Amino acid sequence: MASAPPALRLDAGDNSFQLSPGLRYWHDQHANASPEQAFSQAQTDVFAPLPGGNPAFGFQTGAYWFYLPIENMQRDEPRWLLVQEYALSDHLDLYLRYPDGHVEHQQGGDHVPFYNRFVRFRHPNFRIDLPAGTRVELLLRVQSESSMQVPLVLFTPQAFAELMRDTQFANGLYYGIVLALLCYNLVLWLMLRDSSYFWYLLHTLAFGLVLFTLNGYGFEYLWPTSAWLADAAVPISICLALMGMQMFSRSFLDLQARWPAGNIACLVMVGVFGAMGVASIWLPYSTATPIVSRAVLLGIAWIITASVVMLLRGYKPARLFLLAWSMFLIGTTAFTLLAFAILPQSFWTQYGVQIGSALELLLLSLALGHRYAGLRNANIRLVQDANERLERGLIDRTRELRTTLAQLGEANVKLQEFSRRDPLTGAYNRRHFHEALTKALDTSGNKHKSQALLLLDIDHFKRINDQYGHLVGDDCLKSISRSINEIAQTLNGLAARYGGEEFVLLLPGTDARMALQTAETVRLRIQQTIIHSHGHVIQLSASIGVHTIGVQQDILPDEAIRLADEALYRAKHDGRNCVRHSISVA
Ligand code: GH3
Ligand code: MG
Ligand code: MG
Repeated sequence: MASAPPALRLDAGDNSFQLSPGLRYWHDQHANASPEQAFSQAQTDVFAPLPGGNPAFGFQTGAYWFYLPIENMQRDEPRWLLVQEYALSDHLDLYLRYPDGHVEHQQGGDHVPFYNRFVRFRHPNFRIDLPAGTRVELLLRVQSESSMQVPLVLFTPQAFAELMRDTQFANGLYYGIVLALLCYNLVLWLMLRDSSYFWYLLHTLAFGLVLFTLNGYGFEYLWPTSAWLADAAVPISICLALMGMQMFSRSFLDLQARWPAGNIACLVMVGVFGAMGVASIWLPYSTATPIVSRAVLLGIAWIITASVVMLLRGYKPARLFLLAWSMFLIGTTAFTLLAFAILPQSFWTQYGVQIGSALELLLLSLALGHRYAGLRNANIRLVQDANERLERGLIDRTRELRTTLAQLGEANVKLQEFSRRDPLTGAYNRRHFHEALTKALDTSGNKHKSQALLLLDIDHFKRINDQYGHLVGDDCLKSISRSINEIAQTLNGLAARYGGEEFVLLLPGTDARMALQTAETVRLRIQQTIIHSHGHVIQLSASIGVHTIGVQQDILPDEAIRLADEALYRAKHDGRNCVRHSISVA
């Protein structure tokens, strides 16, 4: 039997007191002790100080009793608020024994409807009266399927109001970030239809729900009267978040295409987490939650492994992804180690998940944007390359086309020229001459000029062929064609081979007198030309018919030719080797 435990003195100057340092506890394994028994045990060594001053025991069966006598020295603060800064305890029974022996009993925890709380706050809280200078014995019984965490704090009403302001602001900030990320990525998903964004949304939503539940907001705002959901929501939402994060990783890291084995591992995990989530509906909280909490570490360890593998395989978007999940891993590990009572309670362990996850969600959102930009840039590069190739091809094709067109043009010019020439002599042919004559006789263009038409026929040419053969005849035709052509050129006229051994000459700006002179020149030139061919020496003569077309005279080409032909006929008739003018000459 030890002496009565020392009381916690609420001295002036402080308005909040952590109870952990002086708190003594007893694990009532069978949860069957009465408060009277507990009060009397509390005076003995059965009640021990918290191990290492840490009010976290991990998942436990039975009930825990906590005992601490309190002496309030602050005369003007008779009313205090006892807050258990952990939201998930099921049953809290608070007993206050006053010096006169009377005991006050209050109930709390999430198996009591939320509206019964003294202050409507996410953490269980009790109003306690502590008359100044009076020793009041505080005995708290906790029984819960959740982790046994009993961080108790005594606040003056004012201190509590200030604490509420700060924590509500911090939590509001956190959920604000989560909500903003949700809205932002929802819009992105709706616009881009990239499945990564959908899985990110699911993960963020489910994860937000996990924290909402863990922080006591789920019980406060979503299911204030459901003790079942207050428990089951934790493992179910964790499983949902685990599934979301595996699906997100699978899609973000493009495992299906880049690492099929990793993809299968991810899908197996999704299946397992899904089954666990469904099982949590029936399993007791104290069985489901520790398993699911361990699964969180497994899930993150796997994601980190997958990101490292993808990073080693040179997949750049995995970098930010890995950093994001490392943040979450650190935060969650801290919180999980707190739940298993391995790490002590502090701001960083208590809010580890919030801090880690806020950083994680932000970084993941960044990583998504980064990855999307990468995909878009790769796309732009592809389109640019394709355009460049297309342009280069187009330039090549255009060049080829131009060359071909130029060649075609040249060929066409050659062909046109060819079609206008006589193949034997190279002189213009009858067709071309006819066209030229038609143009020349078009009075609208040549009203101020007279023109002359000379039709020439070689005399007795048949004999040349007969005597020397056709090849010699051909050479003669070439020679005569050359002579006529030379004369035509000096006079700006046009010469052509009109038929077999007949040639024709059109002389612009030439009257009858000049025409007869020219015809005579031609006749003489032919007569005087000595042709050497195949060892033969040949001299020829030709008869020429002339017709002149006066200024502003309308005449058809055929008519002009006919008149020249008549003149030629007369030249033949008059003995050949002479020049005759058509009779229509003035
Ligand atoms: P005439 O003085 O009456 O004009 O007598 P001719 O023999 O010249 O008259 P004809 O029109 O009867 O004969 C023309 C000859 O020209 C007939 C043909 O053998 C010859 N001839 C026509 N074209 C060619 C040709 O391209 N080459 C050769 N070698 N002879 C040709
Ligand atoms: Mg003839
Ligand atoms: Mg002839």
